[in-house]
Amino acid sequence: MAFLEISSVTKSFGTVNVLQDVNLAIERGEFVVFVGPSGCGKSTLLRMITGLENPTSGTIAIEDEVVNDVEPAKRGTAMVFQSYALYPHMTVFQNMSFGLRMAGKPKDFIAGQVRQAAAILRLEKLLDRKPAQLSGGQKQRVAIGRAIVREPRVFLFDEPLSNLDAELRVQMRAELMELHRRLGTTMIYVTHDQVEAMTLADKMVVMNGGKIQQSGAPLRLYDDPDNRFVAGFVGSPK
Ligand code: ADP
Ligand code: MG
Repeated sequence: MAFLEISSVTKSFGTVNVLQDVNLAIERGEFVVFVGPSGCGKSTLLRMITGLENPTSGTIAIEDEVVNDVEPAKRGTAMVFQSYALYPHMTVFQNMSFGLRMAGKPKDFIAGQVRQAAAILRLEKLLDRKPAQLSGGQKQRVAIGRAIVREPRVFLFDEPLSNLDAELRVQMRAELMELHRRLGTTMIYVTHDQVEAMTLADKMVVMNGGKIQQSGAPLRLYDDPDNRFVAGFVGSPK
């Protein structure tokens, strides 16, 4: 079995079918990027992997264990949102350490984890600031830092750079690639930016209408798209 397996997953909200028969195998350490138009079900899929939603049918397995009934905190996944979702009244240090504190980890361990993540993300000098005193890029680094300190086996990113200006997006993209190189952790990433997807992805997954249209290396999708939708999305002339 692959590191993470999504098997015959469907999701309905009431009578609305949002995802239909989604199957995907993700290898350990892979950088997987989901793309597709708004409303096609990308966020719902991420939320199911991390446990914020349950599949209507089908299974999600991580390292050979079906996690459908495993609570989010025990899945070893960490999600980073577009909106950062930082606590405004807490400092950067408190934001980054919150999850570990809730999990009852010892103080010294927490301080060490935060120091290490802050060094990777160049946040060492900002640990005493509140979110309101940070730029957009810095806030997003804190949100990523909060995920890193937990040492998850899977990172999930839901359009993490969408609120940043173009220049900063390019810079953060490079930082995310460096982070992936450094940690080697499996990353699952959603974006609607085609360039971002082609740059970051080992494996790109094109979705439309609640279904996976095609998945594979970006260049393979570009050279050999299965259908017109995929061709259009990756900008292939075919
Ligand atoms: P994407 O992230 O690709 O834009 P989403 O996964 O957010 O798409 O949403 C897919 C579809 O599911 C949309 O039509 C959305 O309105 C619907 N949806 C998402 N969450 C809920 C919910 N909690 N209740 C009802 N409908 C939902
Ligand atoms: Mg979304």
